[in-house]
Amino acid sequence: MTTKIEQLPRTTVSDALKAELIGKTVRVCGWVRTRRDSKGGFSFLELNDGSTIKNVQVLAEAKLPNYESEILKLGTGSSVEVVANVVESPGKGQATELKAESVRVFGYADPTTYPLQKKGTSFEFLRTIAHLRPRTNTFGAVARVRNEISRSIHNFFNSRGFIYVHSPIITASDCEGAGQMFRVTTLDLDQIPRKDNKEIDFEQDFFGRPTHLTVSGQLEGEIYATALTNVYTFGPTFRAENSNTSRHLAEFWMIEPEMAFCDLEGNMQVAEEFLKTIFNDVLTNCPADMEFFNERIDKTVIETLKSIVSSDFVRLSYTDAVETLKKSGETFEFPVEWGIDLQSEHERYLTEKTFKKPVIVYDYPKDIKAFYMKMNDDGKTVRAMDVLVPKVGEIIGGSQREERLEVLEERMKSCGLNPEEYWWYLDLRRYGTVPHAGFGLGLERTVQFVTGMANIRDVIPFPRAPKSADF
Ligand code: ATP
Ligand code: MN
Repeated sequence: MTTKIEQLPRTTVSDALKAELIGKTVRVCGWVRTRRDSKGGFSFLELNDGSTIKNVQVLAEAKLPNYESEILKLGTGSSVEVVANVVESPGKGQATELKAESVRVFGYADPTTYPLQKKGTSFEFLRTIAHLRPRTNTFGAVARVRNEISRSIHNFFNSRGFIYVHSPIITASDCEGAGQMFRVTTLDLDQIPRKDNKEIDFEQDFFGRPTHLTVSGQLEGEIYATALTNVYTFGPTFRAENSNTSRHLAEFWMIEPEMAFCDLEGNMQVAEEFLKTIFNDVLTNCPADMEFFNERIDKTVIETLKSIVSSDFVRLSYTDAVETLKKSGETFEFPVEWGIDLQSEHERYLTEKTFKKPVIVYDYPKDIKAFYMKMNDDGKTVRAMDVLVPKVGEIIGGSQREERLEVLEERMKSCGLNPEEYWWYLDLRRYGTVPHAGFGLGLERTVQFVTGMANIRDVIPFPRAPKSADF
């Protein structure tokens, strides 16, 4: 009998909740969320295994041989295997419940020390127990939605013939924003080798030269796009910027499509369709998790996503954005003038107050944007675009790239960069140059926007931020 039962394949909680299993015998494994004992001599276990935010209710009767000795010791967090009959649930809100034939305990969780006893534990506290927080409703839901977003992203690009390119994590191009980069070295920090002129002798370092963790896969994306036409990268990105905000991490994931034979217009088009596809997929494939976020985290998330999917993004030149902000009559902490980098307060004003939907701002002043962006004929602005969304602000940054060799070389020099160090990047313009464009989407900001989670540290499993790299 036991052996036969053990041979049953495991049924997920998600499946066990389906009415079509009524009448069947199933084997379900998971963690107890709560146990309630009834005077009539039976107990209810709420069981969760992460396959869905919902728990399945298990009825354990006193006649079970280990009822007194084991089942009555099961507290929140204990792990069990239940073999049970699926019966119609007498309660509302779920179709089925499980009538246990046997309950096997894998492990107990001491209620006097297990930290996840009661509801209402703060996100701040949960950050200190990152090893246990995925067992909560919120972090389980975040993990599933983050997974769905990642799946949707790969699906979007694959269905359009984009090639997934793995850009390197360790980079040797030492001039892209070195101040914000984490150095990679095997040099002994107690005995740093120095040259005669006291400079660090990187020839003795692992790679024989200075190396860092990547801040973006774009340059490598351009290399592959100028051979395979449409490519994307999807990987971890590292920025040592000392910004302790709710929208910045030191380690985050970025998705960077790069498209040959594409201009800024095409770039904006893809970005808009891309975001709408992601939002639509989450609404379609994670309904239970989204209902949870809508109820507990932000009452507007579902409505916001639905309205975004079915309407056009606003497109606004930087110059018009500045005009709009100046005319708004709003007092900003950072005053608005043509030439300033838009601050988060400005971005949010445009999407939350002025337009109440996503806004793509394009044609930024050249002085606040990177050297590789294509110069406009006005000589003052470049073909950059940022996609701004309510609450989060900038979610995508992108541009058409400068494909004219001479113009690019000039731009590099005026940005204080040495074109010789970018010889390989310039080769892409030297040999068969093409118009091309791309953008970077921050995965965590996307998860934040979709779920309504206020702090970016709560949408990545193990957040890294200044003075904070636990677990
Ligand atoms: P911001 O101005 O908000 O700091 P950025 O302009 O430096 O962002 P980009 O270099 O354009 O960012 O990067 C592309 C995208 O990557 C951004 O639109 C954002 O979604 C995401 N991103 C950038 N920096 C971070 C960070 N430190 N943590 C999380 N996501 C980030
Ligand atoms: Mn940006």
